[in-house]
Amino acid sequence: MPNHRRPTAEIPPETRSSKLRTRIGYGWDSHEFKRGIPLKIGGVTLPHPRGLGGHSDGDVLLHAITDALLGAVAAPDIGTLFSPSDSEWKGADSAIFLAEALRRVREAGYAVANLDSTLILAAPKIGPHSARIRARVAELMGLPADCVGVKAKTPEGMGTDNAAIAHAVVLLEKKITRR
Ligand SMILES: [Zn+2]
Repeated sequence: MPNHRRPTAEIPPETRSSKLRTRIGYGWDSHEFKRGIPLKIGGVTLPHPRGLGGHSDGDVLLHAITDALLGAVAAPDIGTLFSPSDSEWKGADSAIFLAEALRRVREAGYAVANLDSTLILAAPKIGPHSARIRARVAELMGLPADCVGVKAKTPEGMGTDNAAIAHAVVLLEKKITRR
C-alpha cells in the first residue's frame, strides 16, 4: 500500500506484544445484492443474476477473512485501510485487501494456521461451488485446502434475503526463527 498515509489506528511499537505463541482473529461483513454486477464470493465469480454492491468488488467472504487477519494482529480494520469513500478501491479486486492483511500478519511474525468461515445467504446455493471457493481461498492464503473451512447457511427467520453475510475466524501461529 505504498501511496496511502498511515492510518491513525496503528498501535505504537512500544506498546506491542510479540510474546503470544498463537493469536485468534474474527471478521464479519455483509453486502446487499444488486442487479447487473457479477457475484464474487471467495475470489470466485458465481453464476447469478445479481452481485454484491458496495465496497470494491463486494466480495463479502474475502472482506470478512481480511478483517479476521487484521484483527488477529490488532491492525486497523479493512474500512480504515481501504476507505469505501476512496475511489481507488471502487470495483477493486478484494484479493488486494487480503494480500495486505497477510503481509501485516507476516510482518508481525506470524503465519496462518487455519481459517474457518460461514456464509449466510438465501441464494445462490453455495454447495455446488464450495470446493472451488475453498480451493481459491486456500490459494490466496497460501494454505492447504484442508486448513480452509467454508460453510454456508440460509438466513432462516432473519429477513436478510437481499444480503450476503460472512463470518470468519483465523488462527495464527508465531513463526519459529532459527539462528
Ligand atoms: Zn465488505
